[in-house]
Amino acid sequence: MRLADDPAVEEFREEFSAFLDAHLPSEAEATPRAKSSADIPEWARRWQRTLFEAGWLLPANPPEYGGRNATLQQQFAHLEELSRRRIYHSFNPQGLGIIAASLLSFGTAEQKQRWAVPILRAEITAALGMSEPGAGSDLAGLRTRAVLDEANDRFIVNGQKVWTSGAHDADVLLTFVRTDPDAPKHKGISVLLIPTDTEGVVRRPFGSIAAEDDLDFNEVFFTDVAVPRENLVGPLHEGWKVANGSLGHERTMLWLGYAERLDDLIKDAPSKQEWFATLLMDVQALKLLGYRQLAGQRPEVEVSLLKLFGSEAVQAASLHVLEEQGAESLMHPTTTAPFNHMNNENFSASWFERYVRSFAGTIAGGTSEIQRNIIAERILGLPR
Ligand SMILES: Cc1cc2nc3c(=O)[nH]c(=O)nc-3n(C[C@H](O)[C@H](O)[C@H](O)COP(=O)(O)OP(=O)(O)OC[C@H]3O[C@@H](n4cnc5c(N)ncnc54)[C@H](O)[C@@H]3O)c2cc1C
Repeated sequence: MRLADDPAVEEFREEFSAFLDAHLPSEAEATPRAKSSADIPEWARRWQRTLFEAGWLLPANPPEYGGRNATLQQQFAHLEELSRRRIYHSFNPQGLGIIAASLLSFGTAEQKQRWAVPILRAEITAALGMSEPGAGSDLAGLRTRAVLDEANDRFIVNGQKVWTSGAHDADVLLTFVRTDPDAPKHKGISVLLIPTDTEGVVRRPFGSIAAEDDLDFNEVFFTDVAVPRENLVGPLHEGWKVANGSLGHERTMLWLGYAERLDDLIKDAPSKQEWFATLLMDVQALKLLGYRQLAGQRPEVEVSLLKLFGSEAVQAASLHVLEEQGAESLMHPTTTAPFNHMNNENFSASWFERYVRSFAGTIAGGTSEIQRNIIAERILGLPR
């Protein structure tokens, strides 16, 4: 299934496809693997830089930031081509999709050159410090405190983050901090770029539900961490706008990732029992809803529907296989998974791992319950 043919989009797709044929690293070149979401092996740094320089990294960006001012439909064709070939454009997804994107929207000219461009060129990697032990869905409840030390033109930061993907391998953290404890909770937040080698920053990676040694999550502790005032992103106390912008950046296309996973599940399904028909219908429904969104026919808020439906459809189908396969599913490798030779880890995942990893979709970036609240209040107009 494809979007209606548009010559400008098809031409763009063909050009990118030819570029991939000419430049894609071979299976032999594409080792070692990335160990976390901010660990980019040397070959993958070269690959990301090649894309940046050719304007194929994030095509919607202007050329100086690795793009070619592409339209939304062209952007979609770009992601579709990457996914068809099972490759990533970057192994630091938060760095590229959230942190660099936030800096390009809210940062100063210096911040764009000093931080965003090196992240886009894979010279440094970045992690996202939003969530805290008491602030996940209720992000505005965050308590990590930054006090402005006017005399020395710096902030002093104290507090803790959690679930910070890849922090132990990242060079810098985009950190959400409370700068005005007396303001209403959405109004006293600011955003700081904190280099991870700053004195007083301690990162403790911990295992995931998939494996004890699957180290991506981190707790990050800040004790009297001095951060230069020039590292403030956006205006003081107006971090909530950055938070909404940061989270919004990738949401529009998130559904495409779920559609890919559903396509993989269709290929891999070990049997074709009743639930398989639901899976076939789910992927078609998701793509049709997504295409309507992409064509600008539906309000922005409906991306919540796509996120909820896509992530839960993946989870439901994985659970069916898990139940059907029983103990076998602990071992049995799936035959496809996203981005095989660029990510062998996922390629050889068991059905069990595939199921537990599906919770990344239903929790991260706003849980299913939060999406249901948004749908109820803002799409259906139900009372709060
Ligand atoms: C794979 C993965 C990667 C992540 N990476 C990062 C990262 O890099 N940086 C970062 O900052 N964070 C990251 N997170 C954290 C993520 O943003 C939070 O897990 C998410 O916001 C939920 O917050 P929480 O875990 O504190 O759960 P809570 O907010 O405590 O929620 C617990 C339960 O209560 C429900 N609930 C909460 N509020 C409501 C409500 N109002 N109505 C109904 N139900 C409600 C939730 O749906 C959930 O079931 C990551 C999470 C995952 C799973």
